Amino acid sequence: MTHTGAGKVIVISGPSGAGKTTLVRQLFERMPQLVSSVSATTRPARPGERDGVDYFFLSAEDFQRRRGAGDFLESCQVFGRGYWYGTFNNQVSPSLAAGKSVVLEVDVEGAKSVFARHPAAITIFVRPDSIEELERRLVARGTENPAAIARRLEVARRELAQADWYQHQVVNNDVDQAVDAIVNILLSHGV
Ligand code: 5GP
Repeated sequence: MTHTGAGKVIVISGPSGAGKTTLVRQLFERMPQLVSSVSATTRPARPGERDGVDYFFLSAEDFQRRRGAGDFLESCQVFGRGYWYGTFNNQVSPSLAAGKSVVLEVDVEGAKSVFARHPAAITIFVRPDSIEELERRLVARGTENPAAIARRLEVARRELAQADWYQHQVVNNDVDQAVDAIVNILLSHGV
């Protein structure tokens, strides 16, 4: 049951490279009462990423063990044969119980799993203007090789095709405007 002051689950999805990370970082600055959920992943850390802060970086074995133990609210293999990603229950439930709203940055499949478990979740899809714009951003970010970028663009096309499933869509042309839009969405939901 939802009541005033109850913590809410906020799901944010969008193609990798759409500028989601920057946007979410600014969202936390604007709404410091929000709690972020740190996901687990089997992908290696990128330069500058810290274990337990950006992600919990787990071995494939560890990830599957935690999965078997029922530690995840949701988990899936985001890029086909690629890496596993998942949201730990303990990153979400304690905050909700304490009346705090939690932000989950997950892919479309993860979003649907979370929504099935938390039907009162607020779902937001952050999209680039176009696939061309997304490609430009991924190339500019410079963290992936051309094959990985091509794969991400392919995944992005599939994700964009499911954007209509979300309650809200925010186009991320201008970061400040996109953050404003998300803040307004959350305020309208009583966050
Ligand atoms: P990246 O490897 O670039 O950090 O993230 C790749 C993708 O994984 C992004 O689309 C992101 O939303 C998704 N992702 C990150 N954490 C989780 C998670 O806990 N669960 C799911 N299902 N997807 C996640």
